Amino acid sequence: MQVKILGTAAGGAFPQWNCSCANCSRVRAGGFAGRPRTQAQLGWSSAPREWTLLNASPDLRYQIEATPELWPRDGARDSPIRDVIVPSAEVDQILGLLLLREFHSFRVHATRSVHRILTEDNSLFGVLARFPGQVCWNEIPLDQRFFVGGARLEVLRMAGSFPGFVSAARLAESEPEEAVIGLLISPQSGGRTLAFLPGVADVPDPLLERLQGCDIILFDGTFWSDTEPSHIPGVTRTARQMGHLPVSGAGGSLERLAGLQRARRIYIHINNTNPILDEESREYRQVRDLGWEVAADGMEMTL
Ligand SMILES: [Zn+2]
Repeated sequence: MQVKILGTAAGGAFPQWNCSCANCSRVRAGGFAGRPRTQAQLGWSSAPREWTLLNASPDLRYQIEATPELWPRDGARDSPIRDVIVPSAEVDQILGLLLLREFHSFRVHATRSVHRILTEDNSLFGVLARFPGQVCWNEIPLDQRFFVGGARLEVLRMAGSFPGFVSAARLAESEPEEAVIGLLISPQSGGRTLAFLPGVADVPDPLLERLQGCDIILFDGTFWSDTEPSHIPGVTRTARQMGHLPVSGAGGSLERLAGLQRARRIYIHINNTNPILDEESREYRQVRDLGWEVAADGMEMTL
């Protein structure tokens, strides 16, 4: 089973269109010791010309064009993209669905609450229902294994919340545990296990135990420190208040996941303000010295 990391940045990507922080300014100017990144996006394939997307990022059109395996066949209107899994209703994880609207059939997998937010509250998603069977919605079960695109998946329950655009009425009838899910992914026929956790507010002991058996962990690398977002104009919340455990500091992911030595540990969903984007920074060196990698667009792995 082939896995491709098509995008690795947090919302807004790197550089972000309206940001001139130190990282964004320097990567635009050139000479920055790090690469631009598109917004977090994964894809996997277990069979020829059959791909599953995990996330539906706002950069999806660009990511498809950068990945020849995802192109249509010569002379045809088609696509190897069969399934799309959306782990939350956050704009960074759903906007790409609208980019797949050109009269193409595929399946979308989401929790019941996320499905209802998208299709019952947002008429824009009607572009995916212009003919019968255009998009088939599948409900992700929280408590049992399910299978998509030759992979076996299990939900990891996360302490996330629904996006700010969700109405109070919808919130009142939605299940909080359906807001954000993490996923364990392995080949249906057996093989290595990958954990996909781009938004982690907290790592309680049961989650840490589930991660012990993983071979690859793609983990929330949004912010280096808890106070980092407070340097962004207009933002008053801390990293933890935004639902992202910081990388550094007491209880941060470097410390909290320090015992998971067996797994390949990779930071993903990296905000453009995070100093680990600069490969000449002290912070990047610290992460690498502790055995972590920083995901870059185009990384490939096999499960
Ligand atoms: Zn920036």
